Amino acid sequence: MDIDEFLLARWTEREQTARLACNGTNGQWHVTNQERQIEADDFGKFVIYDEGGHNEHQAAHIALHDPAAVLADIAAKRAILAEHPQVAADRPHKDGPQTGCRTCHADTHCGEIEARGLCETVRHLATPDATHPDYNPDWSLS
Ligand SMILES: [Zn+2]
Repeated sequence: MDIDEFLLARWTEREQTARLACNGTNGQWHVTNQERQIEADDFGKFVIYDEGGHNEHQAAHIALHDPAAVLADIAAKRAILAEHPQVAADRPHKDGPQTGCRTCHADTHCGEIEARGLCETVRHLATPDATHPDYNPDWSLS
């Protein structure tokens, strides 16, 4: 599995979870004036009641990470990934990387793609999922 496949799989999982969490709402949630209840913006439908299982800070956190925010975040990440495709290097190393990032590893003078492997941008995108069993430690930035 390459890093693009890994990222797309994680993001697809999150999108599916976010869509299911909408549960008939538009996915935009806010904390009510009772500070621990969360309702959807479109119908005023309660999503999470104040039953004492969470405090007002946790309620605010949940509302900030509502399904609409998750879907927008993933759409932005997909766009970033699309801007950093791995392509064949114009002069690959004999024993090193054969690819480079079209955006980050293009020589500014001649436009040739340098053989530098994965760029840091794509590696950063994978770090939130570094504990996933399919994460490859070779993608790490450290
Ligand atoms: Zn890049």
